[in-house]
Amino acid sequence: NQLPADFKTENNRRQVKEACYSFVSPKKTSNPKLIHVSPEVLETLGLTVEDANSEAFLNIFTGNKILENTKPYAMCYGGHQFGHWAGQLGDGRAINLFEVEHKNTNWKLQLKGAGETPYSRSADGLAVLRSSIREYLCSEAMYNLGIPTTRALSLALTGDQVLRDKLYDGNPEYEKGAIVCRVSQSFLRFGNFEILSARQDFKTLKTLVDYTINTHYSFLGKPSKDVYLKFFNEVVNRSLDMVIHWQRVGFVHGVMNTDNMSILGQTIDYGPYGWLEGYEPGWTPNTTDAQHKRYRYGAQVDVVHWNLFQLANALYPLVNEAEGFEAILANFGEQKIEHYKAMMRSKLGLQLKDEKDAVLIQELEDCLQLTETDFTIFFRLLADFENEKHSEGFQLISEAFYTPKTITEAIKTQWNLWFLSYAERLKRETISAQARKKQMNSINPKYVLRNYMAQLAIDDANKGDYGLIDELFNLLKQPYAEQPEHEKWFAKRPERARHKVGCS
Ligand code: AMP
Ligand code: MG
Ligand code: MG
Repeated sequence: NQLPADFKTENNRRQVKEACYSFVSPKKTSNPKLIHVSPEVLETLGLTVEDANSEAFLNIFTGNKILENTKPYAMCYGGHQFGHWAGQLGDGRAINLFEVEHKNTNWKLQLKGAGETPYSRSADGLAVLRSSIREYLCSEAMYNLGIPTTRALSLALTGDQVLRDKLYDGNPEYEKGAIVCRVSQSFLRFGNFEILSARQDFKTLKTLVDYTINTHYSFLGKPSKDVYLKFFNEVVNRSLDMVIHWQRVGFVHGVMNTDNMSILGQTIDYGPYGWLEGYEPGWTPNTTDAQHKRYRYGAQVDVVHWNLFQLANALYPLVNEAEGFEAILANFGEQKIEHYKAMMRSKLGLQLKDEKDAVLIQELEDCLQLTETDFTIFFRLLADFENEKHSEGFQLISEAFYTPKTITEAIKTQWNLWFLSYAERLKRETISAQARKKQMNSINPKYVLRNYMAQLAIDDANKGDYGLIDELFNLLKQPYAEQPEHEKWFAKRPERARHKVGCS
């Protein structure tokens, strides 16, 4: 009464040809427990907090129960990882459960960490509590910052132990397994298109591109060569918009491989991401990228450009003419500079355009690197700058310095010169200082998910205390608002947390 020894299940690792996905079943979890649910995402899906307290909710969003008439699946995609074509990757630890239609919007719900799929390669398809908390908190925080992103509905423990290598001491260690339910209108990545093109499966490529246009970009018209280019152009614009937002808030994704680039221009796949503390264009939170720093803060816009070249290559066989793609990509090259300048102007509270703003911005970036200066705190303090009192500028922002004792007279002089230029520039503006402050504080966040904050929540959670997850979740709902009761989170990273980085 046994299955044959060579019996193979659906979830076996394999190359999946002429298909965009494979049906899979989530792994059963031994003792699932909900840790947190996003009330906003519940509402987006037409669910209530009461629904979330049900046994059914727990079982569905930890993979223990498959809703009738639904067929969970994992998607096939490839990708360029760190500049090199990596072949088939796919949803190795993500399983799409079903779609929800609410208020004329169609949402895909996906479990991350629900077990192996044909795309799991040498890994286990599972996720640990630490990385799940990081994705859960950060994706909702990004949404509340007004940045395009996938959402997170729930965070749950599986009750199972997951084996992970802890690289810093070489000892393998068991960690608590967890599952995040992610929500988006689409989880398609550049890599979904690249894999089909790489395999010269142009028939399936056309099917997928047409599906994507008809489903997500139908306003562009019916699929045709012309509409394929318009589609590409739209993805280009959205990706640029997304990465300029990242630069604005100091978000560093960490793994901007083409399999982590959403076709909707959303931030996706929260792994070893980090937030700038000291302003440092060369910083990346990803320790595996420590040597080349390919995905450092200061390179993110150019990396998006590079990734879009890969998407253009993938779509090319449907158009068979390079000119259109080349023009769009060349335009990105110009737009990225304009958009960056516009974004920095808004951070500085400048409403008018001035040719010399590029110099003002460059000089600020130079000043910010003279000594370690907290990016978030600096811009929040700058909102109180008064041009009549420009000589007090340095004092005004000094709380943003990490090592005030190391500041020399030369550094102070360079700052004073910058504040003088800024004061001169502000004189040409027409809005009041008060209106400028309001505008600046509406786009320069006061609270972001600093790495040490996420780590504190993780440390508590590993001991069974989820209070801080809830506190940070609520704090980050209003990142631009003054929250006096939460003033302690408007603070520089404590010294003990220096150079600590995230994890995937
Ligand atoms: P990432 O670096 O997280 O974007 O992942 C790159 C690829 O590795 C994707 O195909 C993931 O699905 C896969 N992957 C990452 N972690 C795991 C895991 N624990 N089990 C299976 N596949 C994984
Ligand atoms: Mg990924
Ligand atoms: Mg990841």
